[in-house]
Amino acid sequence: MVYIIVPAAFLVICFILMYLYAGPFMKGLPVLVYHKISSTKKPDFLTVATSRMREHLEYITKKGYTTIFFTDLIDYVEKGKPLPKKPLMITLDDGFRDNYTDLYPLLKEFNCKANIFIVAGFVQTPGNLGPRAEGEFMLAEEAKTICKDHVQYGLHTMYHKNYHELSLEEIDEDMRVSKQRLDELGIPYQPIFAYSWAYYFKDNPVKQAEVFGILKKHGVRYAFKVGDRLNPLPINLSKRLVLNRLHMNGSYSMWQYKMALMGFIRIVQRLKKILK
Ligand SMILES: [Zn+2]
Repeated sequence: MVYIIVPAAFLVICFILMYLYAGPFMKGLPVLVYHKISSTKKPDFLTVATSRMREHLEYITKKGYTTIFFTDLIDYVEKGKPLPKKPLMITLDDGFRDNYTDLYPLLKEFNCKANIFIVAGFVQTPGNLGPRAEGEFMLAEEAKTICKDHVQYGLHTMYHKNYHELSLEEIDEDMRVSKQRLDELGIPYQPIFAYSWAYYFKDNPVKQAEVFGILKKHGVRYAFKVGDRLNPLPINLSKRLVLNRLHMNGSYSMWQYKMALMGFIRIVQRLKKILK
């Protein structure tokens, strides 16, 4: 008898804890963050296998989610335009070239939308392969091709420096030059920013307020951190510069992916630690 009661009680406690932890946010907006989608690299924290990405898109399609663009979020918040019944935002950071070679065909196949926070200085042009290894980041022409239908762009600094290490003047200049480079390359972007290294001055409210001022000066109206929680809807306007994203770890199983998508991954990981 005890073999049934103990696991059953454990499961009930787990579900109660999950509900208490994420229940109020269940009707929120999940915003997923990916980096690399690759059929050649080994999956890791930042690299999701292309075959696994296909499974992710199959799953959200089957579950009735509708992927949305940055502009859908803006229109919802600022013009009251309704979101689809089960909205989901896919974001990718940095602008890796595999977003063009591996992700884009999948986006077309599943008719999904994605939003890329592009590092302006890493975008490659034939005469300028950028500061990182050749071929690692998208070419400007590739970036422009995919934003004709399935992709929109947001800002993600000039060279992926951590703003924690920059002065306010340097942050201001970084914002200016990153927008300028995208303008010069003809890559359109929305007034949305993702903090590089997910650093958003949580422990320094004074500098945080100053950085918010710089973002606003540059026209940024929304900014994303990574919090592994859903964003409660309607969007709390006081949180528009610290919106949450759910990290999609390439090492996750499909079960962990589903937990992450629902905003449960933190509690799943905490329970795993306790049970070890
Ligand atoms: Zn990044």
